Amino acid sequence: MWRVLQKISQIVREEMDATGAQECLLPQLQPAQLWRESGRWETYTKAEGIMFSLIDRRETELGLGPTHEEVITTIAKDMIRSYRQLPVNLYQIQSKFRDEIRPRFGLMRGREFIMKDAYSFHASEESLQETYEAMDQAYRKIISRCGLQYRAVQADSGAIGGSASQEFMILAEAGEDEVLYTEDGQYAANVEKAISLPPDAQKSPFTKGEKRETPETNTIEKLCKFLQCSPTTIVKNVLYQAVYDNGKTVLVLVNIRGDQDVNEVKLTNELVRLAPQYQATTLLALQVPDETAQAKWAAKPLPLGYIAPDLDDNYISSVPNIAPKFLRLVDKTAVDLKDFITGANESGYHQVGANWGQEFELPKIVVDLRTAMVGDRAVHDPNQTLQSARGIEAGHIFQLGIKYSQAMGATFTNEEGEEKPLIMGCYGVGVSRIAQAAVEQSYDKDGIIWPGAIAPYHAIVVIPNTNDSNQVEVAEKLYNELNKVGIETLLDDRDERAGVKFKDAELIGIPYRIVTGRSLKSGKVELVERSTKNSQEIAIDQVVETLKQLIKVE
Ligand code: ATP
Ligand code: MG
Repeated sequence: MWRVLQKISQIVREEMDATGAQECLLPQLQPAQLWRESGRWETYTKAEGIMFSLIDRRETELGLGPTHEEVITTIAKDMIRSYRQLPVNLYQIQSKFRDEIRPRFGLMRGREFIMKDAYSFHASEESLQETYEAMDQAYRKIISRCGLQYRAVQADSGAIGGSASQEFMILAEAGEDEVLYTEDGQYAANVEKAISLPPDAQKSPFTKGEKRETPETNTIEKLCKFLQCSPTTIVKNVLYQAVYDNGKTVLVLVNIRGDQDVNEVKLTNELVRLAPQYQATTLLALQVPDETAQAKWAAKPLPLGYIAPDLDDNYISSVPNIAPKFLRLVDKTAVDLKDFITGANESGYHQVGANWGQEFELPKIVVDLRTAMVGDRAVHDPNQTLQSARGIEAGHIFQLGIKYSQAMGATFTNEEGEEKPLIMGCYGVGVSRIAQAAVEQSYDKDGIIWPGAIAPYHAIVVIPNTNDSNQVEVAEKLYNELNKVGIETLLDDRDERAGVKFKDAELIGIPYRIVTGRSLKSGKVELVERSTKNSQEIAIDQVVETLKQLIKVE
């Protein structure tokens, strides 16, 4: 695996160098001070809790680098004075540390993993755009050169921040991410970020506003069955509990159409945007409050399953650090509904034939909070429907803008002699994740099928019977000759049964296997291709030439 990682690193290095980026090495042990300057110490050590932190013998707080915006911005602040020094793009290939909530699948999500991270600095947005596009192209080349199928998708920027960002997804069933895309190739996005047109709402069967007894209808499904209505005629009210970084808890009531689901990434972004209203800077946690959570603030039992958009603020006890009013947000899908059905704030009852502006006041904050779904119509062309695929995020590029440079005072003097914050971009590739993703995309029941460019070895010479001196002699000769011409070759001369050796060669996925077996009698060896299992007999003196052709080593 180390050989695979080195090959991927080399491909990454070559493509980075080709863009004009400079390789460097940054410290993994980082002072908390820098993260306080950028305002991320709390988020990374508490909210996301992703950063390992420690206190040294001088009582100084330190973190193990999960990413390097703070470090690189500090270096830029020290070294860049003038627009004449710009643009600059620096990258490193190094181990990162992240205390992941769910580390799993080997190298896929480790708490220590290898990343290539690059950071660029610019005097103008246009210059950032140029480098961003060059990095986009470089990332496509990296993944193609690794021999993998991928899709570039619009992405959520998360805690890293900034405006535009794009992810590179290696397509594999085992992928943790869902990608939504259209056949015309015009749209692809991570489901966290995806937008689409929801199905049209049906007409409500109720035209008269009234409260109805609806026993045991605490789910949308049960309610639809009971009232013989479509979920598109319902306004669903979902309660969330948000905790901000200043310790303040806010109860959030989201109104959304009954057939739709809240996208918690979009909701989180909206809550971060609203943080200043609560004298906070970021969100620490978001959850649907369970009984224990409710016990901390609910003044009386909540009409769960029957909540209405006008759920009274007096359900919230006056407790320090709990906002006294619900934060009311309405998703776009619920805004245009007429004569809708919704809760009546009383267990076993619903309001039917309701309208905004009559029974209920429309919340002031209207946002897109819905989860786009496979089958939805695309925004750019309603004739296209969204398709779904599983992907493994291999890389992510961001246009950061001045988020870090402004917070940390990293400025330069522009052509007009004015002092301006540096405009930044950042770009990450999961080197070790790519190695594992390659396995997830390319395997069969017998094991790994390494794409040639990143295979640990190009070929393996297997000696079926190590007691046969002729077999050993030919194998060793081929092994030496192949390595000499640059075909990286492994020799299996273990004292094992032939079957065991064949199985192992398949398992570890070396692209070509050469067997010095029975065919030696006629001056030939067997050559087996791992991906197709096709086998052919070739003359011993043709082996090097044949493999050279197959592998195309210069
Ligand atoms: P994810 O959403 O999968 O956690 P991320 O958004 O946290 O990824 P970035 O911060 O953008 O990832 O890091 C850049 C790249 O580093 C990712 O695209 C991914 O390939 C890789 N990466 C991130 N976290 C891990 C991890 N825990 N183990 C292995 N590789 C990782
Ligand atoms: Mg992550």
